[in-house]
Amino acid sequence: MIREGDKVLLIDRRGKRYLVTVSDREFHTDLGILKLGDLIGKDYGSSITSHKGEEFRVIKPDINDIIAKMRRGPQIVHPKDAGIIISYAGISPGDTVIEAGVGSGALTLFLANIVGPSGRVISYEVREDHAEIARKNVELAGFSDRVTIKLKDIYEGIEEDYADHIVLDLPQPENVLPHAVEVLRPGGYFVAYTPCTNQVHRFFQAFQEYKKEFYKPRVVEVLVREQEVKKECMRPKTTMLAHTGYITFIRKL
Ligand code: SAM
Repeated sequence: MIREGDKVLLIDRRGKRYLVTVSDREFHTDLGILKLGDLIGKDYGSSITSHKGEEFRVIKPDINDIIAKMRRGPQIVHPKDAGIIISYAGISPGDTVIEAGVGSGALTLFLANIVGPSGRVISYEVREDHAEIARKNVELAGFSDRVTIKLKDIYEGIEEDYADHIVLDLPQPENVLPHAVEVLRPGGYFVAYTPCTNQVHRFFQAFQEYKKEFYKPRVVEVLVREQEVKKECMRPKTTMLAHTGYITFIRKL
Protein backbone atom coordinates (compact mmCIF):
# COMPACT_ATOMS: atom_id res chain seq x y z
CA MET A 1 0.00 0.00 0.00
CA ILE A 2 1.25 3.50 -0.86
CA ARG A 3 1.93 5.83 2.10
CA GLU A 4 2.69 9.52 2.44
CA GLY A 5 6.42 10.10 1.88
CA ASP A 6 6.84 7.06 -0.42
CA LYS A 7 8.61 7.53 -3.73
CA VAL A 8 6.52 6.28 -6.64
CA LEU A 9 7.00 6.09 -10.39
CA LEU A 10 4.14 7.40 -12.53
CA ILE A 11 3.97 6.27 -16.15
CA ASP A 12 1.77 8.10 -18.68
CA ARG A 13 0.20 6.68 -21.87
CA ARG A 14 3.30 7.67 -23.88
CA GLY A 15 5.61 5.76 -21.55
CA LYS A 16 7.02 8.95 -20.00
CA ARG A 17 8.08 8.34 -16.39
CA TYR A 18 7.88 10.71 -13.41
CA LEU A 19 9.56 10.00 -10.06
CA VAL A 20 7.56 11.74 -7.32
CA THR A 21 7.28 11.70 -3.55
CA VAL A 22 3.73 11.18 -2.33
CA SER A 23 2.36 14.11 -0.34
CA ASP A 24 -0.68 16.32 -0.20
CA ARG A 25 0.34 18.46 -3.20
CA GLU A 26 -0.38 18.91 -6.88
CA PHE A 27 1.95 17.65 -9.61
CA HIS A 28 1.75 19.42 -12.97
CA THR A 29 2.33 17.60 -16.28
CA ASP A 30 1.47 18.44 -19.89
CA LEU A 31 -1.27 15.76 -19.61
CA GLY A 32 -2.89 17.55 -16.69
CA ILE A 33 -2.63 18.11 -12.96
CA LEU A 34 -2.41 15.18 -10.53
CA LYS A 35 -3.37 15.31 -6.84
CA LEU A 36 -0.60 13.19 -5.34
CA GLY A 37 -2.48 12.85 -2.04
CA ASP A 38 -5.01 10.66 -3.92
CA LEU A 39 -2.31 7.97 -4.12
CA ILE A 40 -2.26 7.45 -0.34
CA GLY A 41 -3.84 4.08 0.48
CA LYS A 42 -3.76 2.84 -3.14
CA ASP A 43 -1.83 -0.26 -4.20
CA TYR A 44 1.16 -0.32 -6.53
CA GLY A 45 -0.07 -1.23 -10.02
CA SER A 46 -3.13 0.99 -9.67
CA SER A 47 -3.59 4.30 -11.46
CA ILE A 48 -4.33 7.96 -10.88
CA THR A 49 -6.19 10.29 -13.26
CA SER A 50 -5.27 13.88 -14.09
CA HIS A 51 -7.80 16.74 -14.27
CA LYS A 52 -7.72 16.22 -18.08
CA GLY A 53 -8.85 12.61 -17.67
CA GLU A 54 -5.40 11.14 -18.49
CA GLU A 55 -4.48 7.95 -16.66
CA PHE A 56 -1.06 7.43 -15.04
CA ARG A 57 -0.06 3.94 -13.82
CA VAL A 58 1.76 3.80 -10.48
CA ILE A 59 4.63 1.43 -9.65
CA LYS A 60 7.36 1.23 -7.01
CA PRO A 61 10.60 2.68 -8.41
CA ASP A 62 13.68 0.45 -8.51
CA ILE A 63 17.34 1.43 -8.45
CA ASN A 64 17.42 1.99 -12.24
CA ASP A 65 14.48 4.42 -12.02
CA ILE A 66 16.27 6.41 -9.31
CA ILE A 67 19.52 6.52 -11.29
CA ALA A 68 17.68 7.52 -14.49
CA LYS A 69 16.10 10.49 -12.69
CA MET A 70 18.94 11.57 -10.37
CA ARG A 71 21.12 14.62 -10.91
CA ARG A 72 24.36 13.97 -12.80
CA GLY A 73 27.79 15.53 -12.60
CA PRO A 74 30.55 13.43 -14.20
CA GLN A 75 29.88 10.45 -16.48
CA ILE A 76 28.26 7.57 -14.61
CA VAL A 77 29.01 3.86 -14.71
CA HIS A 78 26.42 2.27 -17.00
CA PRO A 79 24.09 -0.44 -15.57
CA LYS A 80 25.65 -3.09 -17.86
CA ASP A 81 29.04 -2.44 -16.25
CA ALA A 82 27.68 -2.13 -12.70
CA GLY A 83 25.96 -5.48 -13.20
CA ILE A 84 29.14 -7.29 -14.15
CA ILE A 85 31.12 -5.57 -11.37
CA ILE A 86 28.63 -6.86 -8.81
CA SER A 87 28.27 -10.36 -10.26
CA TYR A 88 31.93 -11.11 -11.09
CA ALA A 89 33.15 -9.77 -7.74
CA GLY A 90 30.38 -11.64 -5.92
CA ILE A 91 29.40 -8.51 -4.01
CA SER A 92 26.72 -9.60 -1.56
CA PRO A 93 24.33 -8.37 1.14
CA GLY A 94 26.22 -7.36 4.29
CA ASP A 95 29.52 -6.63 2.48
CA THR A 96 31.71 -3.62 3.20
CA VAL A 97 32.77 -1.99 -0.06
CA ILE A 98 35.28 0.83 -0.39
CA GLU A 99 34.69 2.88 -3.51
CA ALA A 100 36.38 5.81 -5.29
CA GLY A 101 35.69 8.23 -6.91
CA VAL A 102 32.09 8.73 -6.12
CA GLY A 103 31.36 11.09 -9.06
CA SER A 104 27.59 11.34 -9.51
CA GLY A 105 27.10 8.34 -7.24
CA ALA A 106 25.49 5.95 -9.74
CA LEU A 107 27.85 3.07 -8.98
CA THR A 108 27.55 3.95 -5.28
CA LEU A 109 23.78 3.42 -5.52
CA PHE A 110 24.13 0.09 -7.33
CA LEU A 111 26.59 -1.04 -4.63
CA ALA A 112 24.42 0.25 -1.77
CA ASN A 113 21.41 -1.50 -3.27
CA ILE A 114 23.19 -4.85 -3.30
CA VAL A 115 24.97 -4.69 0.10
CA GLY A 116 21.62 -3.84 1.68
CA PRO A 117 20.92 -2.32 5.09
CA SER A 118 23.44 -4.59 6.86
CA GLY A 119 26.26 -3.63 4.46
CA ARG A 120 28.39 -0.51 4.06
CA VAL A 121 29.66 1.52 1.12
CA ILE A 122 32.46 3.94 1.97
CA SER A 123 33.09 6.24 -0.98
CA TYR A 124 36.10 8.53 -1.41
CA GLU A 125 35.85 11.63 -3.58
CA VAL A 126 38.30 14.52 -4.09
CA ARG A 127 35.86 17.07 -5.49
CA GLU A 128 33.46 18.78 -3.11
CA ASP A 129 30.94 19.52 -5.91
CA HIS A 130 30.83 15.87 -6.98
CA ALA A 131 30.55 14.70 -3.37
CA GLU A 132 27.61 17.07 -2.88
CA ILE A 133 25.74 15.76 -5.96
CA ALA A 134 26.37 12.17 -4.85
CA ARG A 135 25.21 12.89 -1.27
CA LYS A 136 21.90 14.20 -2.61
CA ASN A 137 21.53 11.16 -4.88
CA VAL A 138 22.24 8.80 -1.97
CA GLU A 139 19.54 10.61 0.02
CA LEU A 140 17.10 10.42 -2.93
CA ALA A 141 17.61 6.65 -3.08
CA GLY A 142 17.12 6.34 0.70
CA PHE A 143 20.60 4.84 1.25
CA SER A 144 22.01 7.34 3.77
CA ASP A 145 21.92 4.52 6.36
CA ARG A 146 24.61 2.52 4.57
CA VAL A 147 26.70 4.99 2.50
CA THR A 148 29.44 7.28 3.82
CA ILE A 149 30.97 9.79 1.41
CA LYS A 150 34.43 11.04 2.38
CA LEU A 151 36.02 14.10 0.85
CA LYS A 152 39.46 12.51 0.54
CA ASP A 153 42.04 11.47 -2.02
CA ILE A 154 42.17 7.67 -2.00
CA TYR A 155 45.63 7.73 -3.59
CA GLU A 156 46.90 9.05 -0.25
CA GLY A 157 45.52 6.13 1.71
CA ILE A 158 42.50 4.20 2.96
CA GLU A 159 41.41 5.07 6.50
CA GLU A 160 39.44 1.87 7.08
CA ASP A 161 41.27 -1.28 8.13
CA TYR A 162 38.95 -3.77 6.42
CA ALA A 163 37.15 -4.14 3.10
CA ASP A 164 35.36 -7.05 1.46
CA HIS A 165 35.89 -5.33 -1.90
CA ILE A 166 37.43 -2.19 -3.38
CA VAL A 167 35.75 -0.72 -6.48
CA LEU A 168 37.41 2.13 -8.37
CA ASP A 169 36.34 4.48 -11.16
CA LEU A 170 39.19 6.99 -11.32
CA PRO A 171 42.14 7.69 -13.62
CA GLN A 172 44.97 5.80 -11.85
CA PRO A 173 43.70 2.74 -9.98
CA GLU A 174 47.28 1.45 -9.65
CA ASN A 175 47.90 4.19 -7.07
CA VAL A 176 45.44 2.40 -4.77
CA LEU A 177 47.19 -1.00 -4.95
CA PRO A 178 49.58 -0.39 -2.01
CA HIS A 179 46.63 0.59 0.24
CA ALA A 180 44.40 -2.21 -1.04
CA VAL A 181 46.84 -4.97 -0.06
CA GLU A 182 46.66 -3.71 3.54
CA VAL A 183 42.87 -3.66 3.92
CA LEU A 184 41.34 -6.10 1.45
CA ARG A 185 40.28 -9.42 2.98
CA PRO A 186 41.54 -12.66 1.39
CA GLY A 187 39.02 -13.59 -1.32
CA GLY A 188 37.87 -10.00 -1.73
CA TYR A 189 38.04 -8.24 -5.09
CA PHE A 190 39.85 -5.15 -6.30
CA VAL A 191 37.89 -3.83 -9.28
CA ALA A 192 39.06 -1.04 -11.57
CA TYR A 193 36.84 0.56 -14.20
CA THR A 194 38.86 2.50 -16.76
CA PRO A 195 37.77 3.84 -20.16
CA CYS A 196 41.12 3.58 -21.97
CA THR A 197 43.45 0.76 -22.96
CA ASN A 198 46.54 2.69 -21.86
CA GLN A 199 45.08 2.87 -18.34
CA VAL A 200 44.70 -0.91 -18.26
CA HIS A 201 48.25 -1.31 -19.53
CA ARG A 202 49.65 1.12 -16.93
CA PHE A 203 47.71 -0.70 -14.20
CA PHE A 204 49.25 -4.03 -15.23
CA GLN A 205 52.76 -2.62 -15.18
CA ALA A 206 52.27 -1.47 -11.58
CA PHE A 207 50.48 -4.70 -10.70
CA GLN A 208 53.64 -6.78 -11.34
CA GLU A 209 54.96 -5.65 -7.95
CA TYR A 210 51.84 -6.96 -6.18
CA LYS A 211 50.95 -10.02 -8.25
CA LYS A 212 51.93 -12.54 -5.52
CA GLU A 213 49.17 -11.04 -3.38
CA PHE A 214 46.41 -11.67 -5.93
CA TYR A 215 44.80 -14.47 -7.92
CA LYS A 216 45.19 -14.08 -11.71
CA PRO A 217 43.58 -10.95 -13.15
CA ARG A 218 40.61 -10.80 -15.46
CA VAL A 219 39.78 -7.89 -17.80
CA VAL A 220 36.43 -7.58 -19.53
CA GLU A 221 34.53 -5.20 -21.73
CA VAL A 222 30.74 -5.53 -21.72
CA LEU A 223 28.82 -5.12 -24.97
CA VAL A 224 25.02 -5.16 -24.89
CA ARG A 225 23.28 -5.46 -28.23
CA GLU A 226 19.64 -4.47 -27.91
CA GLN A 227 17.15 -6.02 -30.33
CA GLU A 228 14.32 -4.47 -32.25
CA VAL A 229 11.32 -6.80 -32.19
CA LYS A 230 8.62 -6.22 -34.80
CA LYS A 231 5.86 -8.46 -36.12
CA GLU A 232 7.72 -9.38 -39.32
CA CYS A 233 11.31 -8.97 -38.22
CA MET A 234 13.59 -9.11 -35.23
CA ARG A 235 17.07 -7.70 -35.65
CA PRO A 236 19.72 -5.79 -33.68
CA LYS A 237 18.99 -2.08 -33.24
CA THR A 238 21.05 -0.02 -35.67
CA THR A 239 22.62 2.07 -32.90
CA MET A 240 24.51 0.78 -29.90
CA LEU A 241 26.43 2.03 -26.88
CA ALA A 242 29.69 0.81 -28.35
CA HIS A 243 32.25 1.50 -25.62
CA THR A 244 32.13 2.57 -22.00
CA GLY A 245 35.10 1.06 -20.19
CA TYR A 246 37.34 -1.90 -19.39
CA ILE A 247 36.79 -3.61 -16.08
CA THR A 248 39.76 -5.23 -14.36
CA PHE A 249 39.20 -7.74 -11.55
CA ILE A 250 41.94 -9.00 -9.25
CA ARG A 251 41.22 -11.19 -6.23
CA LYS A 252 43.18 -10.94 -2.99
CA LEU A 253 44.89 -14.13 -1.77
N1 SAM B 1 31.47 5.95 -10.74
C1 SAM B 1 30.84 7.24 -10.71
C2 SAM B 1 29.37 7.13 -11.06
O1 SAM B 1 28.93 6.04 -11.47
O2 SAM B 1 28.63 8.12 -10.91
C3 SAM B 1 31.55 8.24 -11.61
C4 SAM B 1 32.98 8.49 -11.19
S1 SAM B 1 33.71 9.84 -12.06
C5 SAM B 1 33.93 9.26 -13.66
C6 SAM B 1 35.33 9.85 -11.40
C7 SAM B 1 35.42 10.56 -10.06
O3 SAM B 1 36.64 10.22 -9.43
C8 SAM B 1 35.38 12.08 -10.17
O4 SAM B 1 34.33 12.59 -9.41
C9 SAM B 1 36.73 12.50 -9.60
O5 SAM B 1 36.69 13.73 -8.92
C10 SAM B 1 37.05 11.33 -8.67
N2 SAM B 1 38.47 11.13 -8.34
C11 SAM B 1 39.54 11.24 -9.19
N3 SAM B 1 40.67 10.95 -8.53
C12 SAM B 1 40.33 10.65 -7.25
C13 SAM B 1 41.07 10.28 -6.09
N4 SAM B 1 42.40 10.17 -6.12
N5 SAM B 1 40.40 10.01 -4.92
C14 SAM B 1 39.05 10.15 -4.89
N6 SAM B 1 38.30 10.51 -5.95
C15 SAM B 1 38.93 10.75 -7.12
